[in-house]
Amino acid sequence: MRVCLLASGSRGNSTLIEVDGCRLLIDAGLSGIETSRRLSTIGLTCDDLHAILVTHEHHDHVGGIGPLARRHNLPVYIDQQTHAALPKLGKIADLQLFSAGESFSLQNLLISSFSTTHDAVNPVGFTIQSDEGKIGFATDLGIPTRLVANQLQDCRVLVLEANHDEQMLQDGSYPWELKQRIRSRHGHLSNNQSCLLLEEICWSGMEALFLAHLSEENNCPDLAGQVFRETLTGCGHDPEIIIGRQSCASFCFETEPLLVS
Ligand SMILES: [Zn+2]
Ligand SMILES: [Zn+2]
Repeated sequence: MRVCLLASGSRGNSTLIEVDGCRLLIDAGLSGIETSRRLSTIGLTCDDLHAILVTHEHHDHVGGIGPLARRHNLPVYIDQQTHAALPKLGKIADLQLFSAGESFSLQNLLISSFSTTHDAVNPVGFTIQSDEGKIGFATDLGIPTRLVANQLQDCRVLVLEANHDEQMLQDGSYPWELKQRIRSRHGHLSNNQSCLLLEEICWSGMEALFLAHLSEENNCPDLAGQVFRETLTGCGHDPEIIIGRQSCASFCFETEPLLVS
């Protein structure tokens, strides 16, 4: 199992997940060239990919999907309302439509989608389950709902939004309307909101926590890392914390296969 945030933040998001030989991207907000460049830092090319999963239609998540899917013949798994909200996506030869809340298989993986609250038509998070354990993925969340907390239980690796520090957002230069949008039930999770969610779902089997979609203006990697480390310590757990960056790929987390007893 390998997980790497190729890019994370309001200017482009894409995450590489490799489980049991199946390599997929969750979102493709970078250009094809940049996706390829960042994959190369972990020894992969776009031709090594098997699928793209889409969380929602915002440009920072879908900007590179059309060209990437067409050039490399990749199936695109996308909620049907989200697809309808992307008239400029262009033709995708292998379009795999689902409805938020549905599960589907991809090679040996069971992928489940679940609804999130965000200002998009039908946004989702994902869990990916296999013999190697469960990966949870939830970014672009207005609020951490009960459904999200339930879906993200028992994850070996968790990718969670940590968009802003509430005080930095308050004191920062964004216009008031934008601050309100970010803070709203359909905006983004603050460090504190995300930590409250984490308290409900962290467990001894969690090996890595990725912090994703950090605002470059309203958050700071060191601060976020410290806040989440304190939360995890308070819960008695010690997974690795890996922080997603906008300008480069994150550390690539890699596990050995679980020993089957
Ligand atoms: Zn986003
Ligand atoms: Zn969004």
